[in-house]
Amino acid sequence: MFDTIIIGAGPAGFTAGIYAARREMKTMIIAKEPGGQVALASEIENYPGFKSIESYDLITKMQDQVKALGVEIKIDEVKKIEKQNDDSFVLYTAKEKYQSKTIIIAMGLSPRRLAIPGENEFNGKGVSYCANCDGPFYKDKTVAIVGGGNAALDAAEIMSKIAKKVYLIHRREEFKGFEVLLDKVKRKENIEFLLNIEIKEIIGKEKVEKIKIYNNKINKEKEITLDGVFVEVGRIAHTDLVAGFVERDKADQIIVKSNCDTKTPGIFAAGDVVVGDFKQITIAMGQATIAALAAYQYLQLKEK
Ligand SMILES: Cc1cc2nc3c(=O)[nH]c(=O)nc-3n(C[C@H](O)[C@H](O)[C@H](O)COP(=O)(O)OP(=O)(O)OC[C@H]3O[C@@H](n4cnc5c(N)ncnc54)[C@H](O)[C@@H]3O)c2cc1C
Repeated sequence: MFDTIIIGAGPAGFTAGIYAARREMKTMIIAKEPGGQVALASEIENYPGFKSIESYDLITKMQDQVKALGVEIKIDEVKKIEKQNDDSFVLYTAKEKYQSKTIIIAMGLSPRRLAIPGENEFNGKGVSYCANCDGPFYKDKTVAIVGGGNAALDAAEIMSKIAKKVYLIHRREEFKGFEVLLDKVKRKENIEFLLNIEIKEIIGKEKVEKIKIYNNKINKEKEITLDGVFVEVGRIAHTDLVAGFVERDKADQIIVKSNCDTKTPGIFAAGDVVVGDFKQITIAMGQATIAALAAYQYLQLKEK
């Protein structure tokens, strides 16, 4: 029986792990992959204490700290949760089950898909959701980045250093990303902005060869020949797993109370998976701190 099981090993999950372990709670983290979305970033330049740190370095440091405190990290996917009569919970993965008195949900967000023909077919064969991970495969090639926020601008910037040519495809005229990042991207000579353009189809035989695009201002379609498409059109929450235990908003993000508690006593949530306008590492960590301390307090009061 664990005192707490944390679902997720992004910044929120690791932080919750540190705080829970330092309260001497028997703690385990279960995560599909360590690092969460930080693994998709290149360098992090707004994490206090480091002017700039490679995302891989930051993840490794967090993971090492959690492990040194005795927290077990299982790389697995939680598939089902059940509440027991004694108010504890059983978490099921494909092969294992674990029992815990509390749960901290730190499941973060996943890439949103374009939902166009060819996207699924060429996933991993020219379609990617992570420039930082797959970028090096496109050295001196031609790629498109699709999206209009910070993630798209970040991906365009990364790919401008690797690929020969980068198309930045955005269905609107204005970008939602930070001005400073947009300016940096605009200064890159090998990035061509394709504005008011929607991507309609990804075409190829074995791998991506071209895309069909549509100009929504002049209602015209055309094809572009390229080698890769990086999809950066936002992130979504996959929270059906916990739907019975928490309140959610329209975007399936979890609604929490002031101590990151949910409608189910003993279940807490933190990080990007929680409703909020801003999604950043420091915010996720702050919420995870609250969630872990609240889980400890919940057990203390219960076991009095
Ligand atoms: C390209 C990019 C660049 C970014 N750059 C910055 C930046 O410079 N500065 C900044 O502050 N923020 C940045 N962010 C945002 C930052 O990465 C997130 O705010 C942060 O990672 C959120 O942390 P989290 O722990 O809540 O969730 P995540 O990092 O999303 O982690 C979620 C974890 O949950 C796991 N998980 C999900 N479902 C399950 C399940 N059913 N079973 C088991 N495990 C599960 C995942 O495997 C993962 O380990 C960036 C994001 C992206 C995509």
